Amino acid sequence: NLKSRFAPSPTGFLHLGNARTALFAWLAARSTQGCFVLRLEDTDQERSTALYEHALLEDLRWLGLDWDEGPDHGGGHGPYRQMERQSIYGDYFARLQTAGRAYPCYCSADELAAERAVQRGAGKPPRYSGRCRHLDAGARAQREAAGLRPTLRFRVPDHGTVVVPDLVWGERHYALADLGDFVIRRSDGSPAFFFANAVDDALMEVNLVLRGEDHLSNTPRQILVLQALDLPIPAYGHLPLLLGADGQPLSKRYGAISLRDLQHHGYLPAAIRNYLARLGHHYTATGFLNRVALAQGFSLTQISRAPGHFDPEQLRHWQREALQSLDDAAIWTWLTPWLRDKVPMGQEIAFVAAVRANMVLPADALDWAERCFAVPLADAEAIQTIAAAPQGFWSAAQATLRAAGGDYRLWTKTLQKESGQRGKALFMPLRAALTGLTHGPELAVLLPLIGEGRAQTRLQAAAQ
Ligand code: GLU
Repeated sequence: NLKSRFAPSPTGFLHLGNARTALFAWLAARSTQGCFVLRLEDTDQERSTALYEHALLEDLRWLGLDWDEGPDHGGGHGPYRQMERQSIYGDYFARLQTAGRAYPCYCSADELAAERAVQRGAGKPPRYSGRCRHLDAGARAQREAAGLRPTLRFRVPDHGTVVVPDLVWGERHYALADLGDFVIRRSDGSPAFFFANAVDDALMEVNLVLRGEDHLSNTPRQILVLQALDLPIPAYGHLPLLLGADGQPLSKRYGAISLRDLQHHGYLPAAIRNYLARLGHHYTATGFLNRVALAQGFSLTQISRAPGHFDPEQLRHWQREALQSLDDAAIWTWLTPWLRDKVPMGQEIAFVAAVRANMVLPADALDWAERCFAVPLADAEAIQTIAAAPQGFWSAAQATLRAAGGDYRLWTKTLQKESGQRGKALFMPLRAALTGLTHGPELAVLLPLIGEGRAQTRLQAAAQ
């Protein structure tokens, strides 16, 4: 069975890009009755906050992704926050040093920058020269005595290649000579990403890593660390990037669409799941799928290499589909935070039944509530339609509505007879006067919500 994980850094709100990564990892686990782990990679102490950590858990739960192991409820491979795993890492750092696979590096940031500048000048890709590999015990002691705090570097073999078998991209070969010795422990003692991320996957018995394509080039280094420690290597699959409408990656900092933004606009988690699950993964089923069906239809072989583009129209499509799967009462529950005081008590369900096919987001429902129960603003087309009604139409409309006692069928039947208007010529002006629009739900279901009193006022206004 698969054991996958989501390993976010709590340095920002969950955005669509990393929500998709989380969803794919969750779907992979659930497609095999496997296990899903949530691990917080909080080693960037300056940018990680408890607020973001809390928000991450909340947003994942809202999206409907549950985890079997994680910081909030344990699971036998914890702790699940990297900053709480320092003593575990210490042991593995020591093993690498003893085996001669890691060494302290005392080079300062300035020295490293100067080295890179020289390499660039010579047209070579910048990589650490390995200068501190050769320091003897005396030279190290001297630097320690001078107060220098070393980083720990992984010693990459000089020759050979490392093979990365990727589920999405196939086998990739990397020349070791191109990698350069890389930092696995920072000078403040905290573990670097390459190290903690790989070691934790192994220790948490994760056998499937699904993550963004931007991590593909990190994988050879991580495989080297795991091989050096004789730890198991998970299967890797790197998901194609998610691009914004402008073709730029959706990053945490720039133009990112957070899950919270979508939640505040009223998008349903089921809509977002259906949308994201198809961004870079092919489903044979084209219709709306619940969580179980999404997991059943998920296959690692169906992940595509083409970048996904965020398309708000597609998201709206899935929102419509998700709405269709809800009954009127459930839709009202969803709308309540936005529409609480906007629909008269007792009319909530009738209102939902009337407008549900004409809305995508709560803002649409709010607009219809205003059209039914407050003052409808007429658009240009409605104003024209109202003005085009023949002489005497509006007074006949008022009189017949009164005579029909608010009964829609009776009203329109008698008005047809009296005004001589039929079909569109009869209904369009009425719709325009009553709702301020020339499209929308059936007038027959709207009239009882609008009520006879408000309807009379609107017909009166149309007559002027
Ligand atoms: N903390 C890393 C990130 O958020 C995790 C990458 C991974 O999934 O391995 O990008």
